[in-house]
Amino acid sequence: MSKITHAQSYFELAHPNTRIELYIDEKIPKDNHSTVVQWLSQAIETTASLYGEFPLSITQVNVSAANRGDGPVPWAQVIRHHPEGVRFYIQPQATLSELNNDWTAVHEFSHLYIPFPGDNDIWFSEGLASYLQYLLMAKNDIISEQTAWQRLYEGFQRGQAASAYTQQTLSSSSKRMHKLGSYMRVYWSGAVYFLNVDVKLMTGNYKLKSVAEVLQKFNQCCRHHPNSWTGEQLAKTFDQLAGDSVFYPTFKAVTKLTQFPDFNESFSALGISIRNGKVVLSNDKHKRAKRLQLVRKVSKEQNMTGKAL
Ligand SMILES: [Zn+2]
Repeated sequence: MSKITHAQSYFELAHPNTRIELYIDEKIPKDNHSTVVQWLSQAIETTASLYGEFPLSITQVNVSAANRGDGPVPWAQVIRHHPEGVRFYIQPQATLSELNNDWTAVHEFSHLYIPFPGDNDIWFSEGLASYLQYLLMAKNDIISEQTAWQRLYEGFQRGQAASAYTQQTLSSSSKRMHKLGSYMRVYWSGAVYFLNVDVKLMTGNYKLKSVAEVLQKFNQCCRHHPNSWTGEQLAKTFDQLAGDSVFYPTFKAVTKLTQFPDFNESFSALGISIRNGKVVLSNDKHKRAKRLQLVRKVSKEQNMTGKAL
């Protein structure tokens, strides 16, 4: 980074679009602080590559030591009061490579593209973050395009398995997610929703051609209005920005479903097929071009500059 001030466990990281106010818990060894800074810088850059800008002007990040759980980042939570940001609980000794390869930070930072739509529509919030996390990692060469689609597909499989024996609509599973433990169904149904809408925007006759463009416009015009938002209001606003109805009709349809939403049509449009549980990406140049639109790189100038510590 170009400018870092360091006082005890407080770091301030400069970024072209956001000032990151980072607080690192004293239980994280001092030797690992530069690892934490580099990991978060990379994750912010990866998230900002959606359209080249991070959605907040100030981002608060708290990093504490996890005392249980699996993986390098066992738990994390979005901070919704001002300044918004993310609280992470990490393994104190996690290496940079372990942290960078974990999806959690990109998932949590992706939540910040939209305000929280409330527990009733938590599928909308979790769906967006779950949809973006692997595509953004692929866009930034952290994982391959093949791996991104494979992991999305495996997420969809988990969502499908979790939806198999329920009579609940997505809306009802979403409202009672913490009580029912219906996380897989809620997260991955939401991810399919955003995939389907993204493909519709790309292939249809809309003013804006991707979820990324809609989120960019939304953050310019409406994200920071002080009112609270429901999923329905977000979907309707996105439609106004996109110039036609796509988010809201798909929203109404998916919330009424008692089964997992269909993703085969979108996979087929993108040249993605499944053979023995493995994703196969078609070499057809039109289909490949469509896939690359979803993981298209933005120019370096639009991204973060400088180096951490
Ligand atoms: Zn989440």
